[in-house]
Amino acid sequence: MGLLALGTALDWPEAKTRAHHVRAWGIKQLLEIWNKAKVKERDAMLWGDEVEYLVVTYSKDEPKVLLSLRQADILAALADDKTLAKEVTPPASPGGTKPKEKYPSPVFHPEFGRFMLEATPGKPWGIDFKELLHVEPDMKLRRAIAKDHMLPNEYPITLTTFPRIGSPGVFTDPHYPVSGPKLRSQFVPDEIANPHIRFPTLAANIRSRRGRKVQVNVPVFRDENTPWPWKDPTVNYDLHNWPEDGDVRNGAAPDNFIHMDAMAFGMGSCCLQITFQAKNITEGRKMYDQLSPLGPILLALTAATPIYKGFLADTDVRWNQISKAVDDRTAEELGEKPLQNDRWRIPKSRYASNSTYISEDPRLREEYLDPNLVIDPEIKQQLLDGGMDDRLATHFAHLFIRDPIVIFNEDLEVLDLSKTDHFENIQSTNWQHMRFKPPPADNNIGWRVEFRPMEIQITDFENAAFSVFMVLITRVILSFDLNFYIPITKVDENMETAHKRDAVLQEKFWFRRNLFSSRPSRGSGSGTTTPRSGGGSRANSRPPSPIGPVEDEYKLMTVNEIINGEDDDGEFPGLIPLVESYLDSVNVDVATRCQLARYLDLIRKRANGELWTAAKWIREFVKGHEGYEKDSVVSEEVNKDLVGKVIEIGEREAKGEGFRGLGAGVEKLLGGF
Ligand code: ADP
Ligand code: MG
Ligand code: MG
Ligand code: MG
Ligand code: MG
Ligand code: MG
Repeated sequence: MGLLALGTALDWPEAKTRAHHVRAWGIKQLLEIWNKAKVKERDAMLWGDEVEYLVVTYSKDEPKVLLSLRQADILAALADDKTLAKEVTPPASPGGTKPKEKYPSPVFHPEFGRFMLEATPGKPWGIDFKELLHVEPDMKLRRAIAKDHMLPNEYPITLTTFPRIGSPGVFTDPHYPVSGPKLRSQFVPDEIANPHIRFPTLAANIRSRRGRKVQVNVPVFRDENTPWPWKDPTVNYDLHNWPEDGDVRNGAAPDNFIHMDAMAFGMGSCCLQITFQAKNITEGRKMYDQLSPLGPILLALTAATPIYKGFLADTDVRWNQISKAVDDRTAEELGEKPLQNDRWRIPKSRYASNSTYISEDPRLREEYLDPNLVIDPEIKQQLLDGGMDDRLATHFAHLFIRDPIVIFNEDLEVLDLSKTDHFENIQSTNWQHMRFKPPPADNNIGWRVEFRPMEIQITDFENAAFSVFMVLITRVILSFDLNFYIPITKVDENMETAHKRDAVLQEKFWFRRNLFSSRPSRGSGSGTTTPRSGGGSRANSRPPSPIGPVEDEYKLMTVNEIINGEDDDGEFPGLIPLVESYLDSVNVDVATRCQLARYLDLIRKRANGELWTAAKWIREFVKGHEGYEKDSVVSEEVNKDLVGKVIEIGEREAKGEGFRGLGAGVEKLLGGF
């Protein structure tokens, strides 16, 4: 992400008085982009991934692994390295393919946590199949470059969360005492956040707007020796430094939940995001809608977050914790008090699954939309008056129900319509699982769609596999004109389901039965369209039927059924068979196909249970550790050994030696790859 220019960031009470100003200018900037870019055509099919790392300080001889807070120094070392300014040659990918041309050096970005780092490819990837094979070597290269600019005992690791962040005692290097004026956390110091004024202000203003600290409560995993009811033993009820210290005395920390109280517990998590450029706005809107129901499925499949603050959790993914960690809703907006000062009740945090569809696709039935979607009617009217269609205006009028959180005084002097800063202020703090990214004002980038729910995976092999899978799925959606629509509220439900322990194998998700259903034309037989080649044939076994009740269009399925298809007599073809049939229909050389098969194989096996998710592997690692006392506690010792194993896996991968023989169940995570 780009950082806003430095300026005077307003504290909340003052920022609130300027919120309307920012929204008004944001809408003007949005209309400016919309009018300029709505006619853009034939943009290239480009895409790019974002990988986020935790930086840890680890040494075999030290009893503890710590979070290193040297983000700024590492970024400075990367920026100062003149040898990186040029192009780099990626290493050969596992199949032996070596890219012919050189690549622009990867780009490193700051993140919320001062212990985090983000890396993106030096230029977006193209659509050429061979280019898909460059992703994994490029990810490995990024990690190697990052490591090269760290201290010998620092490592970039791709766990979603640091297992003992916020635990009593020392967990950062250097250590800072709690608590600070910005976060007012009783568990983490203010120094945990990136010191750029944007980040502490974001955290402080969210807290201040909300009127109390954020409450990130995660159900604890109940093991044999876990006392029950369980009271988070790390909570201090006797602090009196800040007014917010009273939160826990007022019920913020219920029994049987791990209690966390600061933005860092959520925004300090790492994820894997993919951004696609569409050829035009119509295609972008379609991709946004069609990828949307896949969000919870990919969240469950990539589950990697079973530990918080030193305890095993009863959930497997990070999503809701980030959602709670940035939830700035007031008591009125939450429905705890009658509306008096605020404008509306808001059912979701500003970090949440997305709440509406945006395409004008005739297959989008009214019933898929949420009748209770909260929008700002005045904003919507301004967008309609500016020429935007109803559906897109509704989307933005929904995003614009939020206040801007970080406002720089200097930015409010003159409205610059050649910029998008005020629009982005609202847009970029609406953290939904899909993001529709309009072209920036100042260059020729096209309409983009970002897929945001996936959890970061431990190895670059896995991160490449999930990235490539999403690219292939997107190609399949567009070439077979697939229809994934289900009611958007079912997507919300699926998002909750994805949090459950081992949801990937144990739970069922709402999913569309027939992906080939064509445009509904009420009354007449709507029929089905055929895919260009085999593989999807079972999907056509449903006879053409007139448009029926929406409830008949979807049903509950396991992730395995969704990914690998239903058993012989089932109707659902499965996403991997669809990808295979797509690959059959296009020209892919054998070597490339073999490489892609490795990735598809990983995903197939994660879905059918042959392989474990990282969440499962981490749980099993903890449970199998001799220092674990079956009481849900992840001690310093267990944490150190877990991170040590993750580092060992990374070193193996960097050497290209494969993952066999690492012990500790690594083969259940990564198979024979
Ligand atoms: P953000 O943090 O706002 O999501 P980043 O700049 O960190 O954005 O990452 C965006 C991703 O989009 C990167 O992988 C980048 O390579 C990729 N990207 C950049 N330009 C384009 C484009 N025109 N089309 C598709 N992807 C792009
Ligand atoms: Mg980014
Ligand atoms: Mg970002
Ligand atoms: Mg990021
Ligand atoms: Mg993040
Ligand atoms: Mg992103």
